[in-house]
Amino acid sequence: MNITLPEAAEKIRAANKIILTAHIIPDGDAVGAVLAMYFALTSIGKEVFCFIDDTIRKNLLEMPSAEKIQRPSDGEKISADLLVVLDTSPDRIGKVKGITDAPILNIDHHVTNKGGDFDLYVEPSAAATCEIVFKLLQELDVKVTREIAVCLYTGMATDTGFFNYSNTTPMTLFTAAELVEAGVKPNEIAEQMEKKTFGDLKGLNAALQTTKLFFDGKVIGMFVARKYAKTLNTTEGFIDLIRVVDGADVAFLLTDKDENFCRVSMRSKGVDVSAIAKRLGGGGHVRAAGCTINKNMDEAKDILIKAIGEYMIEEGWLLPEEFLEDKETALDDFEYSESN
Ligand code: 5GP
Ligand code: MN
Repeated sequence: MNITLPEAAEKIRAANKIILTAHIIPDGDAVGAVLAMYFALTSIGKEVFCFIDDTIRKNLLEMPSAEKIQRPSDGEKISADLLVVLDTSPDRIGKVKGITDAPILNIDHHVTNKGGDFDLYVEPSAAATCEIVFKLLQELDVKVTREIAVCLYTGMATDTGFFNYSNTTPMTLFTAAELVEAGVKPNEIAEQMEKKTFGDLKGLNAALQTTKLFFDGKVIGMFVARKYAKTLNTTEGFIDLIRVVDGADVAFLLTDKDENFCRVSMRSKGVDVSAIAKRLGGGGHVRAAGCTINKNMDEAKDILIKAIGEYMIEEGWLLPEEFLEDKETALDDFEYSESN
């Protein structure tokens, strides 16, 4: 059931023991929202537990009190008054779903979150779940400390590509300004989030070499092979390097994570990639979405390119005659001229 933000605040006020969680393959918004809520709810006397059923990459562990986030163990059970699910619908929280029978309060900004048999506050126009959490804390009369501000700012900055993407609104920037007032140093957060190991840089170099154009350059794709996927701390930011290519409406990153487990990230300049991701069992936003394809890399590549091509034809972004797989152009073979 969809509820309002004051109603969401009321659910929190009425609960004493609260479990916080967010999506698997956590990003800055997921971890930032959990930790900001952790500080806030603790400050108003709640007993709070934080769980995310996945590893959290190194850059995000630099957020204050990140060590409070635990991974649930098999069969773990906790009695609580409320399970707050942040930045995803409750179907992407892994084992956390099984650790409690508490009622769910879901707070999210994904347009693909259609809710279910639980309380949902969803605001697709919010750039990040952290932007919603800021308003929720105002409803709860919680003072935004520097620690809370750092977590919220990190979530907002990472979900907006440091305030570059189309989801950046006046509200996003007003909120960010308040967070800087509260003590955030934007340069420090940027440095923390952009930090890479030398190995990650080499992985990025290898991935860049795989970049290909499809459908006469309307789609651009990059591939991360298993051996790099296993050692990279993160592929965050890789896709931003290719989405800038002129003429490419859709950019994708396909990562061969494990046996029959490939992850897809997509970005677009207008094509609704959340619709493509949804057809493949994932979701996200119009211009940034993702999914998992449980196939090997070659099969996953075919499935993904077909899904992108078919959707783009249906929506008039692509002519059927452009839908030819042999039109992929390896950057290596790409004839360089003044015009391209
Ligand atoms: P990213 O490419 O940065 O991993 O994800 C882009 C957006 O798509 C994020 O908002 C993320 O939450 C969403 N997303 C990525 N993968 C999935 C998925 O497998 N399922 C759903 N529902 N959303 C996803
Ligand atoms: Mn988010």
